[in-house]
Amino acid sequence: MPSMLASCQKDDAGPEVPYDGNVIIIGAGAAGLYAADILRIKGINVTVLEAASQPGGRVRSLRNQTDVQYQTFSNASQADFPIELGAEVIYGSDSSWGKIISDLGITTKEIDPAATRYILDNVAKKDAEWTILADTDFNAVKAFVAGLPDNTSGASIKNAAGVSTRAQALLNSQAGNFYGSTADQIGTNGIAESLKKITHNNKQLTTFSNPWQDVLISRFNGILPFVKFNTVVKRIDWGTNLITITDAGGKTYTATKVLITVPLSILKNGAITFNPALPSTTTSAVAKFGMDAAVRMVLDFKSNFWGLDSSFIWGGSTSPQYFNSGVNRSKYFRTMSLTIYGDKAQQLSALSDYDKTLTVLAELDAVYNGDGTKYIRRDLDNSDNTTNIVQFVKDWTIDEFTKGGFAYPLVGTTLEDRKGLAAPLSNKIYFAGEATDFSGDAGTVSGALNSSVRVVEEIVKSILQP
Ligand SMILES: Cc1cc2nc3c(=O)[nH]c(=O)nc-3n(C[C@H](O)[C@H](O)[C@H](O)COP(=O)(O)OP(=O)(O)OC[C@H]3O[C@@H](n4cnc5c(N)ncnc54)[C@H](O)[C@@H]3O)c2cc1C
Repeated sequence: MPSMLASCQKDDAGPEVPYDGNVIIIGAGAAGLYAADILRIKGINVTVLEAASQPGGRVRSLRNQTDVQYQTFSNASQADFPIELGAEVIYGSDSSWGKIISDLGITTKEIDPAATRYILDNVAKKDAEWTILADTDFNAVKAFVAGLPDNTSGASIKNAAGVSTRAQALLNSQAGNFYGSTADQIGTNGIAESLKKITHNNKQLTTFSNPWQDVLISRFNGILPFVKFNTVVKRIDWGTNLITITDAGGKTYTATKVLITVPLSILKNGAITFNPALPSTTTSAVAKFGMDAAVRMVLDFKSNFWGLDSSFIWGGSTSPQYFNSGVNRSKYFRTMSLTIYGDKAQQLSALSDYDKTLTVLAELDAVYNGDGTKYIRRDLDNSDNTTNIVQFVKDWTIDEFTKGGFAYPLVGTTLEDRKGLAAPLSNKIYFAGEATDFSGDAGTVSGALNSSVRVVEEIVKSILQP
C-alpha cells in the first residue's frame, strides 16, 4: 500500500484514497459505524443502511429508548447510573472500546475481581471464602477457567472440563454463558485460540455516568447523517459490476462494494437473499458458529441483600450471571443486571416479563433466604401485583434485527473459521462485525471495532491494488 501512495505528493489536494465508487455498509452497530468513520476519513463515499430506528445495534441503553417512560420510572429501573440493555462491561481498559472511552474522557469504574461471588449448593461466597474451605469442585472449575487459554481440547467446554454434577452450573456460568451459550454447545479450542490472541489488559470496567449508546452516538456523530434508518436490507444482487441492494420497501441502492455487519443470526436465518448465493466457503464458515437466545433483565430491589461490594455472582442455574451493576457508581447499589444465553434464555423468552422475573426471583430466594421476593421493588402507583414489579427486560432473542446474543464457536470450530467468515468475495462483498474478529475479541464491542479496522484495510487494498 505505501508504494501505491508514493505517487501522491504530500500537498496534493484530494482524498487519501481516490475512488470513484461507493461503499454501502449494512448495519449501524459498533462495527458499521466505525468502518464508515474510517472509510470517510479516507475520502471514500459511504452510506449506511440500518434496519432499526436507532444506531448502536447490541449497544443499547435504557435512557435512549423513547418507548420506555424512563422519566416517570414506570416499571423501569430507578438506578442512578446508566442501565445497559446489551453490552455493559468494557473488557480491557486498553482494548479498542476501552481506548475510545478513555479518548473521550469518560469516567470509568473498575470492577474488582476479588468481589465476585460464586454459587455452589445455593450458597454464594467469594473466591477467598471457597478457598479456605478447600472445596474441590470450586477449585476444579477455577483451574479449568484459568487454564482455558492453553486448553487444546477439541471437545465441548462441558466435556473438556469434566467437573462434577454439583459444579456444572458454576462451570456453565463462567465458561458457557460468558461465551454466549451453554457449556455443552461451545467448542473449547475455538474459545482458547481467541483468548490466546488477546493483547489488552484484563481489567473490567463500567462507565460511571455515560450510557454506552450515547458514547457511540457522540463518537460517531459525524457519520449519523450518512445512516439511513428503518431500512431493512432484504436482497443483494452482486453478480454484475454494480451491486444492487433492495430493502423491505422495494427501494434499491447501488454500490461498487458492500460491507455486511449484520449479526451472524441474520446471515444464518437467510433474512438477506444473495444473488448469486453466498459461496460454500462462506456458508460453511457460517455453519461453524452458533448464536443462541439472549435475555437481559434489570431488576430493582428495595435493599441490597447480596453484598454491597459484590460485582458478578456466577453459578446460577436459572440466571448464570447476576451483576451488581451499581457497584462503585451508585449511591444505592440495589439494582441487578442479569445476562442469560442459550437454552435458559430460550425458556425465559417464552414467558411473560413478569413470569421471567418470578422465575429468577425463585433462584435468588433459594440462595438468599427469600430476600429476592421480599425486596423486589414494586411500583406503588400500580396496584396490580402481577405487573407492578420494577423491571426491564430486553429479550434479544426476539429482536428482529439481532435474534440472539453473539456468535460462539461450535465444537470443532477453530479461529481459522472466523477468517472464513470474514473473507471478502470477489472484491465486492466484505464482512465485519463481532463474529468476524480473529484478533481475540470476538463477541465483544472491541471485537466489532477491531473487525472494522481489518475490513477497511481489505477495502482500501482492493481499491489501490485492484
Ligand atoms: C445481552 C448482551 C450482553 C453483552 N455484553 C457485552 C459486554 O458486556 N461487553 C462487550 O464488549 N460486549 C458485550 N456484548 C456483545 C456486543 O454487544 C457485540 O459484540 C457488539 O455490540 C456487536 O457489534 P456489531 O456491530 O458487530 O453488531 P450489532 O451491534 O448487532 O450491529 C448490527 C446492526 O445490523 C443491523 N441489521 C440487522 N439486520 C439488518 C438488515 N437486514 N438490514 C439492515 N440492517 C440490519 C442491526 O439492527 C444492528 O444495528 C453483549 C451482547 C449482548 C446481546
